[in-house]
Amino acid sequence: MRQKIVAGNWKMNKTLDQALQLAAEIKPMVMDEVDSRVNIILAPPAIYLSRLKDMIGSLPLAAQNCSAFLSGAYTGDLSAEMLKSVGAQYVIIGHSERREIFRETDQIVLDKIQQALKSALKVILCCGEPLSIREQGTHVDYVKKQLEQSLFKLEASNWEHIILAYEPIWAIGTGKTATSQQAQEMHASIRLMISENMGSSQSEGISILYGGSVKPDNAAELFACSDVDGGLIGGASLNARDFIAIAKSFQWS
Ligand code: PEP
Repeated sequence: MRQKIVAGNWKMNKTLDQALQLAAEIKPMVMDEVDSRVNIILAPPAIYLSRLKDMIGSLPLAAQNCSAFLSGAYTGDLSAEMLKSVGAQYVIIGHSERREIFRETDQIVLDKIQQALKSALKVILCCGEPLSIREQGTHVDYVKKQLEQSLFKLEASNWEHIILAYEPIWAIGTGKTATSQQAQEMHASIRLMISENMGSSQSEGISILYGGSVKPDNAAELFACSDVDGGLIGGASLNARDFIAIAKSFQWS
C-alpha cells in the first residue's frame, strides 16, 4: 500500500559508537516530532544492524545491499537471510553507487531482489539516469529499461514488498537536486509505465521515493508533488536534526 516514507541511507559512514549515538538522537525525535503517518526507515552499515535493532526496537532497519546468492562460498558477501536474522526488514537494491562502482548489472540487481524476497525482506529498489542521459532527454526510456529488467520481471504478488526510489545519479551527493517538476515528471512517468504493464491498482499502490540531495530546505517542495511519496536520504540522514526536519516536511490536507 502506498505510504509516506523517509529512509536514511548512512552508506559507509560512522563508527559503531557514532552510529549508536545517531540512532539514539533520531529515535526520540521520531516518536515526539514526526507525524505517525510517516514511516521512517534507517539503513546503517550492515555490521551495526544487530546492535541498532536492540537499541531502537520499533524503527525499521534496512540493509544497504545483499548478496545475489543464497549461501555458500562467497567470501565477504552477506545473504538476505543473514541480514534478516540480524534485524533488517528492508534492503536497498540497485543503488547507483552499487551499479556504477561495483558494476552491478540489471541481472545482478534482479538476482538480489529475488534473494531478498525469498528471505521476506522488503526491497527499496533504486533507479535513475546519469547526467549524459538526462542531457540527451532520454531519461524516461532509460528508467523504463531499468524497471523492465527488474520490477516488471517479478510476479505481481511480490509488488507489495517493493518500494521504488527514483534517484537521478547527477543529483546524488552533488548538492544538485532535481527540481520538483523534474521529480514529479519522472515519478508520474514511472506510475504510467506501471499502470500500462500491471494496471492502475499496482501503479497507485506502489510508493515511489525521490532521492538526490534532499535537504531540509527542499524536502517540502519535493514531497508536495502528487507522485512523490517521500525520500531516500543520503548525506542529510547523517545529521539527526536535518533528517527529522526532512521527515517533518510533508504537508497534510
Ligand atoms: C542516496 O545515496 O541515496 C542519496 C540520495 O544521497 P544524497 O542524499 O546524499 O544525495
